[in-house]
This record gives sequence, structure tokens and C-alpha cells, in this order.
Amino acid sequence: MPLYDYRCESCGHRFEARHRFDDPAPGCPNCAAAEVKRVILSAPTLAQGMVTLAGDSRGATKEQLQDKWAEETPKLRKKLVDKLGEDTVNRYAPTLNKRYE
Ligand SMILES: [Zn+2]
Repeated sequence: MPLYDYRCESCGHRFEARHRFDDPAPGCPNCAAAEVKRVILSAPTLAQGMVTLAGDSRGATKEQLQDKWAEETPKLRKKLVDKLGEDTVNRYAPTLNKRYE
């Protein structure tokens, strides 16, 4: 699971939390406020610009980018395969079969 950075909106505490991409943000461990803001999220451009995830790659480590890629790519690939078929995806989006480097 990827690691996310958060900053608490109410006390300013910064913390990290590891959870699934589509899980809700955890509350602040310092003051228990629910309003926390995700500080980064880095995202590589998938499939040569076919899908660009919102985010900011400044400050992201290579490991975070790889996590993100490993988590998002199979989902994206599956959607495309459902829509276009395995052959088409292999032909037009071969980068989806690779790891982010
Ligand atoms: Zn707080």
C-alpha cells in the first residue's frame, strides 16, 4: 500500500498514513480532527498521457512513484481491456505492461 503525507487543517500536524488509494483520509493523530489535507501526490503520466492523475510530483520519492504506478496501472489497464480488448491494449498501450522506472 502506498504511503501518503497529510497535514492537519486544524493543528498543522504533519503525519504519514499508509492506506489504499481510494480509502478516505485518516483523522489527525494529534488532535483527532477529521479535516486533513493530503500533502503530495505524485503520479506518473500513465500510458503516454492517456490518463494523467492529478498530483504534484515534487518531493515524491522514486519509491512513491513506483507504488503509485503499481497500484493504478492494473486498474487502468483492466478498464481499457474491458473496453478495447486485450490485443488493442497490448498494441497501443504497451507501457501498461511495464513497471514504472
Ligand atoms: Zn490535528
